[in-house]
Amino acid sequence: MPNFTLADDVFVRAAAQFPTPFYLYDAAGMQKTARALQEAFSWNPRFKEYFAVKALPNPHIGRLLVGAGCGLDCSSHCELMIAELLGVKGDNLMFSANAMPPQEFAFARRLQGIINLDDITDIDTLQQNGGIPDTICLRYNPGGDFGDGNAIMGSPRDSKFGMTRPQLSESLHRLKALGVKRFGLHAFLASNMLGEVYYPLLARLLFETGKELQAETGLELSFVNLSGGVGIPYRPTDAAPDIGLIGRRVETVYREAFGSDNSVAIKTELGRYVTGPHGWLVARARHEKRTHKHYIGLDACASNLLRPAMYGAYHHISVAGKRDAEHTHTYDITGALCENNDKFAIDRALPPIELGDLVIIHDAGAHAHTMGYQYNGRLRSAEVLYRPDGSFQLIRRAETPEDYFATLHGEGLPAL
Ligand SMILES: *Cc1c(COP(=O)(O)O)cnc(C)c1O
Repeated sequence: MPNFTLADDVFVRAAAQFPTPFYLYDAAGMQKTARALQEAFSWNPRFKEYFAVKALPNPHIGRLLVGAGCGLDCSSHCELMIAELLGVKGDNLMFSANAMPPQEFAFARRLQGIINLDDITDIDTLQQNGGIPDTICLRYNPGGDFGDGNAIMGSPRDSKFGMTRPQLSESLHRLKALGVKRFGLHAFLASNMLGEVYYPLLARLLFETGKELQAETGLELSFVNLSGGVGIPYRPTDAAPDIGLIGRRVETVYREAFGSDNSVAIKTELGRYVTGPHGWLVARARHEKRTHKHYIGLDACASNLLRPAMYGAYHHISVAGKRDAEHTHTYDITGALCENNDKFAIDRALPPIELGDLVIIHDAGAHAHTMGYQYNGRLRSAEVLYRPDGSFQLIRRAETPEDYFATLHGEGLPAL
């Protein structure tokens, strides 16, 4: 079930203060979820969640989550800048990138973050850009299928991420010769997984592979990084994963692998699970059209929220003040882009919508604003934080036409 913790009145009050469309984020909800995650893994003394910055790369959100005990997982120069801005470094910082510019390794090393190597060729690059650390993480891709696969990630065999099993061995032997003492093992094999089986299955694979590699190389297995992938209930028929049960099941697998020894740390890099349900895109119905279908056009479009256009993702939609009204109408809810996939919903049953109604798109707290773009001259929207004291804080303004033109370069254009 999508998250309905905020009353419609909160969205109405926010919309009285900020022009639509904007993102609204619930600070208390995000912190509560981060704490529940830590509680679920509290049996593991060195457990740490590294919030995947790419899910919601706003430093105000980063600060909130760091305040709740999280580290940060970064994958690019700008994301590392967010970590630097917040003073997140050392063991509180994970750097997991692939095909990245070599200087990003040097930046991550300067912040003393944990390097998660995606490929065997990255060893040379790292050696020349920042140097080889004592402790390093390797990203594993076992190939084949894993779990039930899904639209976002596909199967491991088709995934561009990670190294093969023989490459893990070869990498660790080389890294040992270069001075590495300890290693971690990471894999991200499926995304947005509901239920409580994905992490335990993945954990078993990484524990067993980690033990093998430890025996093979004599290096110490320091941690296992379960990465992201725990899902959220986008659809009314979806159940939220029970994170407490996931934690207990991972513990069972851990005991099978390591007995009562607690020395191997568990790390996670959840993004969607932590912030996804606690963000909404708030828009207004601007246009109604009846042709072969019944359309409601919003003042938001795929430039604000790409997921439905990109992979047919479902986002629940509600209309402020009409939560409990009968869903008597069937609409396509669209944006204004000149692209026919610019639809937030297709054939969606909703209450009758009037122009000016606030239309709330749920579960937009992860991989949402951050995927925004400027196609068709439509600009990214503002982000607003709903604070525990009931007030609203603008944490990113909406883009303006000045932003749109700011990167133009070259002589000969008249001034705007
Ligand atoms: C995207 C990503 C995550 C977060 O994934 P979620 O599905 O949001 O949990 C974690 N780790 C890495 C390396 C990623 O690329």
